[in-house]
Amino acid sequence: MTVRVRFAPSPTGSLHLGSALTAVANWLFARQQGGELVLRIDDTDEGRAVEGAEQAIEQDLRWLGLGWDEGPVRQSERRQRHLEQAAAAKGAHARDGAVWLSSPGLPEFVIVRSDGRPTYRWASAVDDADMGITHVVRGNDHLPNAALQIAAVRSLGAEPPQYLHHALVRGEGGKLSKRDGADSIAALREEGYPPEAIVNLLGLVASSGPGDVMSLPELVERFDIDRLARGEVVLESKRLRALSTAHISRLHDDDLVARVLGFAPAGTDPQLVAAMAPALRGAHTLAEAGDLVACVTEAPLQHSLPELATIRERYPDRLSEQDARALVDELRSAGVPLREARMTLTGRERGPELWAVLAALPRDEAIRRAA
Ligand code: GLU
Repeated sequence: MTVRVRFAPSPTGSLHLGSALTAVANWLFARQQGGELVLRIDDTDEGRAVEGAEQAIEQDLRWLGLGWDEGPVRQSERRQRHLEQAAAAKGAHARDGAVWLSSPGLPEFVIVRSDGRPTYRWASAVDDADMGITHVVRGNDHLPNAALQIAAVRSLGAEPPQYLHHALVRGEGGKLSKRDGADSIAALREEGYPPEAIVNLLGLVASSGPGDVMSLPELVERFDIDRLARGEVVLESKRLRALSTAHISRLHDDDLVARVLGFAPAGTDPQLVAAMAPALRGAHTLAEAGDLVACVTEAPLQHSLPELATIRERYPDRLSEQDARALVDELRSAGVPLREARMTLTGRERGPELWAVLAALPRDEAIRRAA
């Protein structure tokens, strides 16, 4: 049996972390089992649909590196099918203008409202049956729907999928939560967290067990559907920052430069960022790395330090890390105060390591700032 799962967000905007956890769990499971993932947009609740939300969801999934094999299937476009199946379902009957489903051992429930709209529970069950979904992996806020949906699928003469529910994400002070505005993928992207770190964190909490800094393939291997997170999980911003630093430090130079450029002042020379690369690898976020770059690109008010200009002149135009470190040693031995040198070159008391500032600035620019 080929595993077929679906990720079925309601189109309310950029994914919040709870939905992203569902997406990660489904994606890891599908990849691990050599199965298929369908993207379904549960847009039947028109009141809640937000303009552009579907695009935001797709953008988030792509950015996280979570592709899908089929879809997006829009639930709203399958309305005729939902109605047709309501008419065909065993145990369905009309009462007070609505269609109800009765099944042994369960309370009756509405499958088509009196205004003619199929309910979410029904539409979802019909879709899962039609799509041949084998496992429904979703948040435990849907636990109360499972028994009804099993009955709904059976009323169509189909075999219900397995329903598996994972923990909900709880936000609290110091944690990634709605309150501090950091609960959506878009917010974390803007703050400069690399997608690898977010998927890493979600992948680790999706199923219990040991694990730390991991790539997607490692997370696929580690995932265990029998140990889906239970109850509630707390996503700590401290942990995300640590994973973020680890993933930033693993990036290849070209990739690092391209990503940091997105957070550096407009028009920054990529060569300048490349020269600083080793010093950017300690940053917690790409935004922090972009700020380090800004320390160097923004020319400070003139603060002359002629000894610095003289010594800089003797070195090549572009400095390797090794050259730049040697230059710092020479400044130190010549008695040039390094704090002064930093002020002269950047106009700030803090920033990237001094060798990185020197490596980033072309010779003429460094001399111009020091003259
Ligand atoms: N649209 C539902 C949600 O976003 C999906 C529930 C399900 O996966 O069955 O919560």
